[in-house]
Amino acid sequence: MVKQLNIQNKLSESNLCRPTLDSMERINGFREVELGLSREQAMQEANRCLRCKSASCVAGCPIRINIPEFIGALADEELYRAAHILQRSNPFASSCGRVCPQETQCEARCILAKAGTPIAIGALERFVADWALDNKVEIGTGLRRAASGKNVAVIGSGPAGLTAASELALKGHSVKIYEALDDSGGVLLLGIPEFRLPKRIVIAEISRLLNLGIKIECNVFVGKTVAMSELYKEYDAIFVGNGAASIIKPGIPGEALKGVYSAKKYLASTNLAWINQRINGLSHSLLGKKVTVIGGGNTAIDCARVARRLGGDQVRIVYRRSEAEMPARLNEIMHAKEEGVELTTLSSPVRILGNAKRRVTSVICQKMELGKYDTSGRRRFYPIEGELIRMDSDLVIYALGTVAVPIMTDLWPARKRRNKIVVYETGETEISGIYMGGDNIRTNGTVAQAIADGKRAASAIHTFFALK
Ligand code: SF4
Repeated sequence: MVKQLNIQNKLSESNLCRPTLDSMERINGFREVELGLSREQAMQEANRCLRCKSASCVAGCPIRINIPEFIGALADEELYRAAHILQRSNPFASSCGRVCPQETQCEARCILAKAGTPIAIGALERFVADWALDNKVEIGTGLRRAASGKNVAVIGSGPAGLTAASELALKGHSVKIYEALDDSGGVLLLGIPEFRLPKRIVIAEISRLLNLGIKIECNVFVGKTVAMSELYKEYDAIFVGNGAASIIKPGIPGEALKGVYSAKKYLASTNLAWINQRINGLSHSLLGKKVTVIGGGNTAIDCARVARRLGGDQVRIVYRRSEAEMPARLNEIMHAKEEGVELTTLSSPVRILGNAKRRVTSVICQKMELGKYDTSGRRRFYPIEGELIRMDSDLVIYALGTVAVPIMTDLWPARKRRNKIVVYETGETEISGIYMGGDNIRTNGTVAQAIADGKRAASAIHTFFALK
């Protein structure tokens, strides 16, 4: 029974308790950690929403979901309407509800954050979107406009590419996606572990989009398998959403030793093993008892938590600043600690050592201290002379970020003068008919930002065709 709330109740602190799997149970497998709200909890939380006329939460959402509308529909127990509002704005609402940092986006801007506790928008998004998946609620092909006769190539099938493809398909354009890997989904499928974002959710959301008649060809690396200039001749427009596939290495001696992995490779290998039901037969080189993870973001946390589940007895995250400066989400850090992951802060790796077989044995770290704040609002760090620590390690994973791989060099006349292509706010580039979005145009972007890029570019491509 959902309790009706008066304004005083709505403004006071919420006692919403988010169910999570017990920490001991978690590390014995890959089951999802955050279990999601019950129907009663979701209704109760939706009832707290003030349904603001000028809703500040919407401005905090990169996709500009009509948050008061979908939460209002949920509070009125009109789940189908809530699902439809959400799905029309966000094709990956179940995924976003799980992995987007709402606490720094929409929830940070919720008016109730000032008075008590913000509405748990992410948890409600997940509840409604999961209900829609379970009940097969789909934006049907009936919403698709008549065929326009225009062809669009989409490069990459991560959240930006798939969103652009689905928006363009709904507008009546014929779309073909070129994916470099075996499967579609990009970071959603291969970059986030099962216990944070189950594959069945990603696969269900992608299948729903592909039902719109989008064609997809996997194992095509644009720039190698096929030249960008060929696609440019063949298609009326191109959206490039190829993500950020190039890895930033630590740049220290020993990084090429056996047992040293980039986070991208480690997560892709373990996710693929999970998808192919080979997680128990994983290559020994990916398994370690003493694991050192270098980095302080969500990817570093993900790697450490995977390593714990794969038998790591001592799993340490090494970060050069303090815990307060770590860019990872607070609840992910909390979950990692609950699962036994240790944080070694104010430490920066300077050398990785190996044995005669060139297998990693330890990591040497320089101890650091914090200084004044820099322009990004974080404190600078300085080495403490002579203070080195050694960490025994049989597996080392570095999670220092990725950058985009340039793929349009054969088309881009300005390449000899600049190594960065100009991308305008709409996603349009300085080459007519080519649009970009997702992780290839920003660093540390969220899934919601990639989706927003895909939507913006699809809208700009549609306008481009109309004006042609
Ligand atoms: S700002 Fe908060 S209370 Fe207002 S509509 Fe958005 S979620 Fe609801």
